Amino acid sequence: MNKERIIMLSDCQSFYASVEKAANPEYSNKPLVVAGDPARRSGIVLAACPIAKDSGITTAETLREALGKCPELVVVRPRMQHYIDVSAQITDILRTFSDLVEPYSIDEQFIDITGSLSLFGSPRQIASAIQQQIRTETGVYTRVGIGYTKVTAKMACDLWAKKNSDGLFTLTREQLPCLLWPQPISQLFMVGRRMSAHFHSMGLTTIGHLARLPLAELKWHMREKFRKNCDIDAELYWRIANGIDDSPVQPSTHETAPKSVGHQMTLPRDYRTMAEIRTILLELAEMVCRRCRSLMVNGAVLSVGCQGASFDRPTGFSRQSTMSDPTNATNLVYEAAVSLFRLHWDGQPVRRVHLSLSNLSDENQYQLTLFESRPRYRELERATDGLKNKYGDTIIGRAVSFTGAGQIKDRAGKIGGHYK
Ligand SMILES: [Mg+2]
Repeated sequence: MNKERIIMLSDCQSFYASVEKAANPEYSNKPLVVAGDPARRSGIVLAACPIAKDSGITTAETLREALGKCPELVVVRPRMQHYIDVSAQITDILRTFSDLVEPYSIDEQFIDITGSLSLFGSPRQIASAIQQQIRTETGVYTRVGIGYTKVTAKMACDLWAKKNSDGLFTLTREQLPCLLWPQPISQLFMVGRRMSAHFHSMGLTTIGHLARLPLAELKWHMREKFRKNCDIDAELYWRIANGIDDSPVQPSTHETAPKSVGHQMTLPRDYRTMAEIRTILLELAEMVCRRCRSLMVNGAVLSVGCQGASFDRPTGFSRQSTMSDPTNATNLVYEAAVSLFRLHWDGQPVRRVHLSLSNLSDENQYQLTLFESRPRYRELERATDGLKNKYGDTIIGRAVSFTGAGQIKDRAGKIGGHYK
Protein backbone atom coordinates (compact mmCIF):
# COMPACT_ATOMS: atom_id res chain seq x y z
CA MET A 1 0.00 0.00 0.00
CA ASN A 2 1.17 3.49 -0.75
CA LYS A 3 2.35 5.62 2.11
CA GLU A 4 -0.33 7.98 3.41
CA ARG A 5 0.33 11.44 2.04
CA ILE A 6 0.54 14.52 4.21
CA ILE A 7 -0.87 17.57 2.50
CA MET A 8 -1.32 21.05 3.87
CA LEU A 9 -3.35 24.02 2.78
CA SER A 10 -2.02 27.36 3.93
CA ASP A 11 -4.47 30.22 3.88
CA CYS A 12 -3.60 33.87 4.48
CA GLN A 13 -5.83 35.73 6.90
CA SER A 14 -7.33 38.88 5.31
CA PHE A 15 -4.58 38.71 2.72
CA TYR A 16 -4.65 42.13 1.01
CA ALA A 17 -5.37 43.93 4.28
CA SER A 18 -2.56 42.04 6.07
CA VAL A 19 -0.10 42.89 3.29
CA GLU A 20 -1.01 46.58 3.57
CA LYS A 21 -0.66 46.51 7.35
CA ALA A 22 2.76 44.90 7.05
CA ALA A 23 3.78 47.60 4.57
CA ASN A 24 2.42 50.39 6.78
CA PRO A 25 3.21 49.53 10.42
CA GLU A 26 1.58 52.77 11.61
CA TYR A 27 -1.78 51.17 10.78
CA SER A 28 -1.10 48.00 12.74
CA ASN A 29 -3.62 48.75 15.50
CA LYS A 30 -6.18 50.50 13.28
CA PRO A 31 -9.18 49.13 11.43
CA LEU A 32 -8.16 48.91 7.76
CA VAL A 33 -9.82 47.89 4.53
CA VAL A 34 -8.56 47.60 0.98
CA ALA A 35 -11.26 49.04 -1.24
CA GLY A 36 -11.85 49.35 -4.97
CA ASP A 37 -11.74 53.09 -5.20
CA PRO A 38 -11.06 54.89 -1.92
CA ALA A 39 -12.02 58.22 -3.50
CA ARG A 40 -15.59 57.02 -4.13
CA ARG A 41 -17.81 55.87 -1.32
CA SER A 42 -19.46 53.47 -3.74
CA GLY A 43 -16.21 51.48 -3.95
CA ILE A 44 -16.31 47.87 -2.80
CA VAL A 45 -14.43 46.48 0.20
CA LEU A 46 -12.04 43.83 -1.17
CA ALA A 47 -10.48 42.89 2.17
CA ALA A 48 -10.93 43.89 5.79
CA CYS A 49 -8.44 43.35 8.60
CA PRO A 50 -9.62 41.49 11.72
CA ILE A 51 -10.02 44.78 13.65
CA ALA A 52 -12.29 46.13 10.89
CA LYS A 53 -14.22 42.86 10.88
CA ASP A 54 -14.78 43.29 14.62
CA SER A 55 -16.73 46.46 13.79
CA GLY A 56 -18.99 44.36 11.58
CA ILE A 57 -17.35 45.21 8.27
CA THR A 58 -17.52 42.46 5.66
CA THR A 59 -15.88 42.04 2.27
CA ALA A 60 -17.97 42.97 -0.78
CA GLU A 61 -19.97 45.67 1.00
CA THR A 62 -19.64 49.26 -0.17
CA LEU A 63 -17.21 51.69 1.37
CA ARG A 64 -20.19 53.85 2.35
CA GLU A 65 -21.64 51.01 4.44
CA ALA A 66 -18.24 50.22 5.94
CA LEU A 67 -17.57 53.84 6.91
CA GLY A 68 -21.05 53.97 8.44
CA LYS A 69 -20.04 51.17 10.79
CA CYS A 70 -16.57 52.49 11.50
CA PRO A 71 -15.90 56.18 10.69
CA GLU A 72 -12.21 56.01 11.69
CA LEU A 73 -11.58 53.27 9.11
CA VAL A 74 -8.28 53.43 7.20
CA VAL A 75 -9.00 52.90 3.50
CA VAL A 76 -6.23 51.71 1.20
CA ARG A 77 -6.21 51.41 -2.58
CA PRO A 78 -5.49 47.88 -3.84
CA ARG A 79 -2.06 47.11 -5.30
CA MET A 80 -2.68 43.85 -7.09
CA GLN A 81 0.79 43.40 -8.54
CA HIS A 82 2.22 43.75 -5.08
CA TYR A 83 -0.19 41.11 -3.71
CA ILE A 84 0.79 38.79 -6.54
CA ASP A 85 4.45 39.36 -5.67
CA VAL A 86 3.82 38.62 -1.97
CA SER A 87 1.89 35.50 -2.97
CA ALA A 88 4.88 34.37 -5.05
CA GLN A 89 7.13 35.15 -2.10
CA ILE A 90 4.97 32.84 0.05
CA THR A 91 5.24 30.14 -2.65
CA ASP A 92 9.02 30.55 -2.40
CA ILE A 93 8.91 30.12 1.37
CA LEU A 94 6.77 26.99 1.02
CA ARG A 95 9.19 25.63 -1.56
CA THR A 96 11.93 25.64 1.04
CA PHE A 97 9.91 22.91 2.79
CA SER A 98 8.92 20.86 -0.27
CA ASP A 99 9.13 21.19 -4.03
CA LEU A 100 5.47 20.12 -4.26
CA VAL A 101 3.72 23.46 -3.83
CA GLU A 102 0.57 24.35 -5.75
CA PRO A 103 -0.96 27.82 -5.56
CA TYR A 104 -4.72 27.34 -5.33
CA SER A 105 -5.68 31.01 -5.20
CA ILE A 106 -3.79 34.20 -4.51
CA ASP A 107 -3.91 33.53 -0.77
CA GLU A 108 -4.13 29.74 -0.57
CA GLN A 109 -1.52 27.17 -1.48
CA PHE A 110 -1.27 23.40 -1.21
CA ILE A 111 1.96 21.79 -0.11
CA ASP A 112 2.72 18.06 -0.04
CA ILE A 113 5.23 17.46 2.73
CA THR A 114 5.20 13.65 2.68
CA GLY A 115 8.81 13.59 1.54
CA SER A 116 10.01 16.37 3.87
CA LEU A 117 9.11 14.87 7.23
CA SER A 118 12.50 13.46 8.13
CA LEU A 119 14.14 16.77 7.21
CA PHE A 120 11.92 19.20 9.07
CA GLY A 121 10.03 17.32 11.79
CA SER A 122 6.43 16.37 12.42
CA PRO A 123 3.59 17.80 10.29
CA ARG A 124 2.60 20.17 13.09
CA GLN A 125 6.18 21.35 13.55
CA ILE A 126 6.46 21.97 9.82
CA ALA A 127 3.10 23.78 9.71
CA SER A 128 4.12 25.95 12.61
CA ALA A 129 7.52 26.71 11.05
CA ILE A 130 5.71 27.67 7.82
CA GLN A 131 3.43 30.02 9.76
CA GLN A 132 6.37 31.62 11.56
CA GLN A 133 8.45 32.08 8.46
CA ILE A 134 5.63 33.59 6.40
CA ARG A 135 4.78 35.89 9.32
CA THR A 136 8.40 36.99 9.72
CA GLU A 137 9.08 37.56 6.04
CA THR A 138 5.77 39.02 4.86
CA GLY A 139 3.90 40.06 8.02
CA VAL A 140 0.96 37.88 6.97
CA TYR A 141 -0.69 35.44 9.38
CA THR A 142 -1.50 32.08 7.82
CA ARG A 143 -3.72 29.24 8.95
CA VAL A 144 -2.64 25.74 7.99
CA GLY A 145 -4.98 22.79 7.52
CA ILE A 146 -3.28 19.39 7.55
CA GLY A 147 -4.91 16.43 5.83
CA TYR A 148 -4.12 13.30 3.84
CA THR A 149 -5.65 14.58 0.58
CA LYS A 150 -6.15 18.04 -0.88
CA VAL A 151 -9.85 18.13 0.07
CA THR A 152 -9.18 17.04 3.65
CA ALA A 153 -6.45 19.69 3.98
CA LYS A 154 -8.83 22.31 2.60
CA MET A 155 -11.62 21.36 5.01
CA ALA A 156 -9.19 21.09 7.94
CA CYS A 157 -8.25 24.68 7.19
CA ASP A 158 -11.70 26.16 6.52
CA LEU A 159 -13.64 24.36 9.24
CA TRP A 160 -11.07 24.32 12.07
CA ALA A 161 -7.66 25.93 11.52
CA LYS A 162 -9.27 29.31 10.72
CA LYS A 163 -11.15 29.20 14.03
CA ASN A 164 -8.34 27.85 16.22
CA SER A 165 -6.21 30.16 18.30
CA ASP A 166 -3.00 28.70 16.84
CA GLY A 167 -4.33 28.52 13.27
CA LEU A 168 -3.45 24.84 12.92
CA PHE A 169 -5.57 21.73 12.55
CA THR A 170 -4.99 18.14 11.49
CA LEU A 171 -7.81 16.03 10.05
CA THR A 172 -6.87 12.36 9.87
CA ARG A 173 -8.58 9.55 8.03
CA GLU A 174 -9.62 8.01 11.36
CA GLN A 175 -11.20 11.27 12.55
CA LEU A 176 -13.39 11.75 9.49
CA PRO A 177 -16.49 10.01 10.98
CA CYS A 178 -16.27 11.69 14.38
CA LEU A 179 -15.17 15.18 13.30
CA LEU A 180 -16.23 15.87 9.72
CA TRP A 181 -19.39 13.85 9.40
CA PRO A 182 -21.40 15.55 12.20
CA GLN A 183 -20.88 18.93 10.45
CA PRO A 184 -23.82 20.50 8.61
CA ILE A 185 -23.89 19.72 4.89
CA SER A 186 -23.37 23.44 4.12
CA GLN A 187 -19.81 23.03 5.46
CA LEU A 188 -18.83 20.49 2.80
CA PHE A 189 -16.22 21.85 0.38
CA MET A 190 -17.85 22.90 -2.94
CA VAL A 191 -21.35 23.07 -1.43
CA GLY A 192 -22.85 26.55 -1.69
CA ARG A 193 -26.08 27.87 -0.24
CA ARG A 194 -28.28 26.57 -3.07
CA MET A 195 -26.78 23.09 -3.18
CA SER A 196 -27.04 22.92 0.58
CA ALA A 197 -30.78 23.63 0.32
CA HIS A 198 -31.12 20.91 -2.32
CA PHE A 199 -29.36 18.38 -0.09
CA HIS A 200 -31.65 19.37 2.78
CA SER A 201 -34.66 18.67 0.63
CA MET A 202 -33.23 15.18 0.00
CA GLY A 203 -32.99 14.66 3.75
CA LEU A 204 -29.20 15.05 3.81
CA THR A 205 -28.51 17.64 6.50
CA THR A 206 -25.05 16.53 7.67
CA ILE A 207 -21.90 15.63 5.77
CA GLY A 208 -22.17 12.14 7.28
CA HIS A 209 -25.65 11.62 5.81
CA LEU A 210 -24.17 12.12 2.36
CA ALA A 211 -20.94 10.22 3.03
CA ARG A 212 -22.68 7.11 4.34
CA LEU A 213 -25.20 6.94 1.52
CA PRO A 214 -24.21 4.35 -1.09
CA LEU A 215 -22.97 6.28 -4.11
CA ALA A 216 -25.56 4.65 -6.41
CA GLU A 217 -28.32 5.89 -4.13
CA LEU A 218 -26.98 9.45 -4.09
CA LYS A 219 -26.82 9.40 -7.90
CA TRP A 220 -30.44 8.26 -7.99
CA HIS A 221 -31.55 10.98 -5.53
CA MET A 222 -29.83 13.71 -7.48
CA ARG A 223 -31.14 12.44 -10.81
CA GLU A 224 -34.67 12.57 -9.37
CA LYS A 225 -34.14 16.01 -7.90
CA PHE A 226 -32.64 17.71 -10.94
CA ARG A 227 -34.39 15.59 -13.57
CA LYS A 228 -31.15 14.92 -15.39
CA ASN A 229 -28.04 12.81 -15.12
CA CYS A 230 -25.89 14.31 -12.35
CA ASP A 231 -23.69 11.27 -11.78
CA ILE A 232 -20.43 13.18 -12.04
CA ASP A 233 -21.53 15.81 -9.51
CA ALA A 234 -22.93 13.14 -7.21
CA GLU A 235 -19.64 11.28 -7.24
CA LEU A 236 -17.70 14.49 -6.63
CA TYR A 237 -19.70 15.41 -3.50
CA TRP A 238 -19.63 11.83 -2.27
CA ARG A 239 -15.86 11.62 -2.67
CA ILE A 240 -15.31 14.94 -0.86
CA ALA A 241 -17.54 13.83 2.03
CA ASN A 242 -15.49 10.64 2.27
CA GLY A 243 -12.17 12.47 1.99
CA ILE A 244 -11.33 10.62 -1.22
CA ASP A 245 -9.11 12.66 -3.52
CA ASP A 246 -6.23 11.17 -5.47
CA SER A 247 -5.25 14.41 -7.14
CA PRO A 248 -1.59 15.21 -6.59
CA VAL A 249 -0.23 18.55 -5.47
CA GLN A 250 0.97 19.76 -8.83
CA PRO A 251 3.51 22.55 -8.86
CA SER A 252 2.69 23.57 -12.43
CA THR A 253 -1.13 23.48 -12.65
CA HIS A 254 -1.79 27.06 -11.69
CA GLU A 255 1.57 28.57 -12.19
CA THR A 256 1.77 30.71 -15.24
CA ALA A 257 5.07 32.32 -16.03
CA PRO A 258 5.21 35.53 -14.01
CA LYS A 259 5.76 38.88 -15.69
CA SER A 260 8.32 39.81 -13.12
CA VAL A 261 10.12 38.34 -10.16
CA GLY A 262 10.72 40.66 -7.25
CA HIS A 263 11.35 40.82 -3.56
CA GLN A 264 11.36 43.55 -1.00
CA MET A 265 12.63 43.78 2.51
CA THR A 266 11.54 45.94 5.39
CA LEU A 267 14.54 46.73 7.51
CA PRO A 268 14.59 46.60 11.31
CA ARG A 269 15.92 50.18 11.46
CA ASP A 270 16.82 53.01 9.11
CA TYR A 271 19.83 52.28 6.93
CA ARG A 272 21.88 55.35 6.15
CA THR A 273 25.03 54.18 4.40
CA MET A 274 25.62 52.72 0.97
CA ALA A 275 27.65 49.95 2.61
CA GLU A 276 24.60 48.74 4.55
CA ILE A 277 22.32 49.09 1.55
CA ARG A 278 24.71 47.08 -0.62
CA THR A 279 24.25 44.15 1.75
CA ILE A 280 20.48 44.26 1.33
CA LEU A 281 20.80 44.64 -2.44
CA LEU A 282 22.98 41.54 -2.53
CA GLU A 283 20.47 39.54 -0.52
CA LEU A 284 17.59 40.73 -2.68
CA ALA A 285 19.55 40.03 -5.87
CA GLU A 286 20.26 36.53 -4.59
CA MET A 287 16.60 35.86 -3.73
CA VAL A 288 15.32 37.21 -7.04
CA CYS A 289 17.95 35.48 -9.17
CA ARG A 290 17.49 32.22 -7.35
CA ARG A 291 13.77 32.37 -8.08
CA CYS A 292 14.52 33.19 -11.75
CA ARG A 293 16.91 30.27 -11.94
CA SER A 294 14.29 27.91 -10.53
CA LEU A 295 11.82 29.21 -13.14
CA MET A 296 14.58 28.97 -15.76
CA VAL A 297 14.12 32.55 -16.90
CA ASN A 298 16.41 35.52 -17.39
CA GLY A 299 15.40 39.11 -16.71
CA ALA A 300 16.16 42.00 -19.04
CA VAL A 301 14.88 44.93 -16.99
CA LEU A 302 16.08 45.57 -13.46
CA SER A 303 14.08 47.70 -11.01
CA VAL A 304 15.34 48.86 -7.66
CA GLY A 305 14.01 51.32 -5.18
CA CYS A 306 13.53 52.20 -1.57
CA GLN A 307 11.19 53.92 0.83
CA GLY A 308 11.74 55.76 4.06
CA ALA A 309 10.00 54.95 7.33
CA SER A 310 7.70 57.96 7.42
CA PHE A 311 4.32 57.45 5.87
CA ASP A 312 3.33 61.12 6.21
CA ARG A 313 6.45 62.32 4.50
CA PRO A 314 7.21 59.69 1.85
CA THR A 315 10.77 59.50 0.62
CA GLY A 316 12.48 57.15 -1.76
CA PHE A 317 12.45 56.21 -5.40
CA SER A 318 11.90 53.38 -7.84
CA ARG A 319 13.90 53.21 -11.05
CA GLN A 320 14.47 50.78 -13.87
CA SER A 321 17.32 50.04 -16.19
CA THR A 322 17.84 47.56 -18.96
CA MET A 323 20.57 45.01 -18.42
CA SER A 324 23.20 44.71 -21.14
CA ASP A 325 22.15 41.03 -21.50
CA PRO A 326 19.16 39.26 -19.95
CA THR A 327 20.47 37.40 -16.92
CA ASN A 328 19.69 35.55 -13.70
CA ALA A 329 23.24 35.69 -12.36
CA THR A 330 23.29 37.15 -8.86
CA ASN A 331 26.59 38.99 -9.20
CA LEU A 332 25.58 40.77 -12.42
CA VAL A 333 22.18 41.79 -11.06
CA TYR A 334 23.77 42.88 -7.79
CA GLU A 335 26.35 45.08 -9.53
CA ALA A 336 23.71 46.68 -11.76
CA ALA A 337 21.45 47.22 -8.73
CA VAL A 338 24.20 48.96 -6.79
CA SER A 339 24.97 51.39 -9.64
CA LEU A 340 21.28 52.12 -10.22
CA PHE A 341 20.67 52.67 -6.52
CA ARG A 342 23.72 54.90 -6.12
CA LEU A 343 22.63 56.98 -9.10
CA HIS A 344 19.15 57.75 -7.71
CA TRP A 345 19.42 57.63 -3.93
CA ASP A 346 19.36 61.06 -2.32
CA GLY A 347 20.89 59.86 0.95
CA GLN A 348 17.63 59.91 2.96
CA PRO A 349 17.26 57.11 5.55
CA VAL A 350 15.99 53.87 4.02
CA ARG A 351 13.51 51.50 5.65
CA ARG A 352 12.38 49.38 2.74
CA VAL A 353 14.26 48.19 -0.34
CA HIS A 354 12.88 46.37 -3.34
CA LEU A 355 14.46 44.73 -6.35
CA SER A 356 12.85 42.98 -9.30
CA LEU A 357 13.60 41.60 -12.72
CA SER A 358 11.07 41.87 -15.54
CA ASN A 359 10.87 41.31 -19.30
CA LEU A 360 11.60 37.69 -18.51
CA SER A 361 12.71 35.28 -21.18
CA ASP A 362 13.57 31.61 -21.37
CA GLU A 363 17.10 31.20 -20.08
CA ASN A 364 17.91 28.68 -22.78
CA GLN A 365 17.99 31.55 -25.23
CA TYR A 366 20.96 32.81 -23.29
CA GLN A 367 23.93 33.62 -25.45
CA LEU A 368 27.30 32.37 -24.48
CA THR A 369 29.52 35.36 -23.92
CA LEU A 370 33.13 34.49 -24.43
CA PHE A 371 34.61 37.37 -22.54
CA GLU A 372 32.90 36.80 -19.24
CA SER A 373 33.11 34.18 -16.57
CA ARG A 374 29.35 33.85 -16.61
CA PRO A 375 29.06 30.10 -17.29
CA ARG A 376 31.24 29.48 -14.27
CA TYR A 377 28.97 31.62 -12.11
CA ARG A 378 25.96 29.76 -13.40
CA GLU A 379 27.44 26.48 -12.31
CA LEU A 380 28.36 27.85 -8.93
CA GLU A 381 24.88 29.26 -8.46
CA ARG A 382 23.18 26.02 -9.48
CA ALA A 383 25.24 24.23 -6.88
CA THR A 384 24.40 26.69 -4.09
CA ASP A 385 20.72 26.77 -5.09
CA GLY A 386 20.67 22.99 -4.81
CA LEU A 387 22.13 23.11 -1.33
CA LYS A 388 19.75 25.83 -0.21
CA ASN A 389 16.73 24.01 -1.59
CA LYS A 390 17.77 20.96 0.34
CA TYR A 391 19.03 22.35 3.61
CA GLY A 392 17.63 25.87 3.88
CA ASP A 393 18.85 29.35 3.18
CA THR A 394 21.51 29.54 5.84
CA ILE A 395 23.53 26.54 4.71
CA ILE A 396 25.52 28.71 2.36
CA GLY A 397 25.65 32.45 2.48
CA ARG A 398 27.76 35.18 1.15
CA ALA A 399 30.08 36.41 3.88
CA VAL A 400 28.53 39.87 3.79
CA SER A 401 25.10 38.49 4.78
CA PHE A 402 26.47 37.62 8.18
CA THR A 403 27.36 41.20 9.05
CA GLY A 404 25.06 43.41 11.09
CA ALA A 405 23.18 44.70 8.06
CA GLY A 406 22.27 41.24 6.70
CA GLN A 407 18.68 40.10 6.99
CA ILE A 408 18.65 36.56 5.62
CA LYS A 409 20.44 34.88 8.48
CA ASP A 410 18.29 36.66 11.03
CA ARG A 411 15.08 35.63 9.34
CA ALA A 412 16.09 32.08 8.59
CA GLY A 413 17.34 31.71 12.16
CA LYS A 414 13.80 32.13 13.44
CA ILE A 415 12.38 28.95 11.88
CA GLY A 416 9.95 27.46 14.31
CA GLY A 417 10.06 30.60 16.42
CA HIS A 418 13.21 29.58 18.22
CA TYR A 419 16.50 31.26 17.65
CA LYS A 420 19.03 28.65 16.73
MG1 LIG B 1 -7.76 33.81 3.05
